Amino acid sequence: EMDISHDKYFTSYEDLEIHKLMLEDDPRTDAYRKAILENKSYFKNKVIMDVGCGTGILSIFCAQAGARKVYAVEASNMANLAKEIVKENNFEEIIEVLHGKVEDIVLPDDIKVDAIVSEWMGFYLLHEGMLDSVLAARDKFLKPDGEMFPESAIIYVAPSSVPDLYNKWKNFHGVSLSTFSKHLRSSKSDKPEIMQIKKDDLLGTEVAIAWINLREDTPKDLDSYSIQHVVGASKSGQYQGICVWFECNFPELSNNSRIILKTGPDSPMTHWKQTVILLPEEQNVEEQEPISFQLDMKRDQFNPRRYNLQLTLLDPEEVEHPVPCTCHMTKCIL
Ligand code: SAH
Repeated sequence: EMDISHDKYFTSYEDLEIHKLMLEDDPRTDAYRKAILENKSYFKNKVIMDVGCGTGILSIFCAQAGARKVYAVEASNMANLAKEIVKENNFEEIIEVLHGKVEDIVLPDDIKVDAIVSEWMGFYLLHEGMLDSVLAARDKFLKPDGEMFPESAIIYVAPSSVPDLYNKWKNFHGVSLSTFSKHLRSSKSDKPEIMQIKKDDLLGTEVAIAWINLREDTPKDLDSYSIQHVVGASKSGQYQGICVWFECNFPELSNNSRIILKTGPDSPMTHWKQTVILLPEEQNVEEQEPISFQLDMKRDQFNPRRYNLQLTLLDPEEVEHPVPCTCHMTKCIL
């Protein structure tokens, strides 16, 4: 199957700067390192597949944790560098770098693996659509009771102010440029902003829009997530957008506390930052005032690696049961 958008996707991962950004993202790299190296009793003698090994760092963690064999699959030409890095760490006997898409890879004797390790997350979790490949690898190569690292992921959303896109223009070197900033925002209102939001910018408690189970979900399950939500404003402020972030949970295999990779405004910054979907017009909210919204995340019909994020403002009076919703389900309809 020829698909140019996919090929461009892989060559984009030949940029060393992208790998530097990921490697130096400490919360990210540390979460994987801890999930693997603090579970040596699990990894000992296991057969592992690393889907999208990039530089090979996660495969090397697995080998350091005692894995018997690691299949390090990488579609881009980074595979060649990964081979050298494996050698540099003296793990040629354990780590086998396989240069190709995981969808096309064949393992000798129809081998099944004990666990799949992968760092597939994109902006707001789903951008890039790489999870499809991880799920395909699971269906093809994972033993029935095998483990996934990570094993689940949750997308959270919360109403927010976005001071960087509003406040500084209200008095810019003594000039009010709100008209300019309004046009600037509406010129990119169809695209979510990737930016850092501070905990203090949030105007209400977050709610989960998606809960993904990597052991069970299918690519089809990832096509569409939607939520209608009402939350009481936690303080008065300017409601200017919806902040989106995610977290990933690693399997709890020993008595250690669960390793969670968090990317919210309350956690140390990662290269994913946060994603903001802007409101067309800011709204003043008072403390306790109900904030109502509907958010739809739908996979693009033409490019499966992209999602369309659509925000709809609801009149709280018209929402049938205007009570804060606390369920953590994939689809939450009030
Ligand atoms: N595991 C590395 C790199 C993560 S980035 C790390 O943690 O630092 C994701 C990598 O997966 C990229 O290098 C990309 O080229 C690769 N990739 C994405 N989809 C793939 C697929 N279907 N088959 C093989 N490799 C894939």
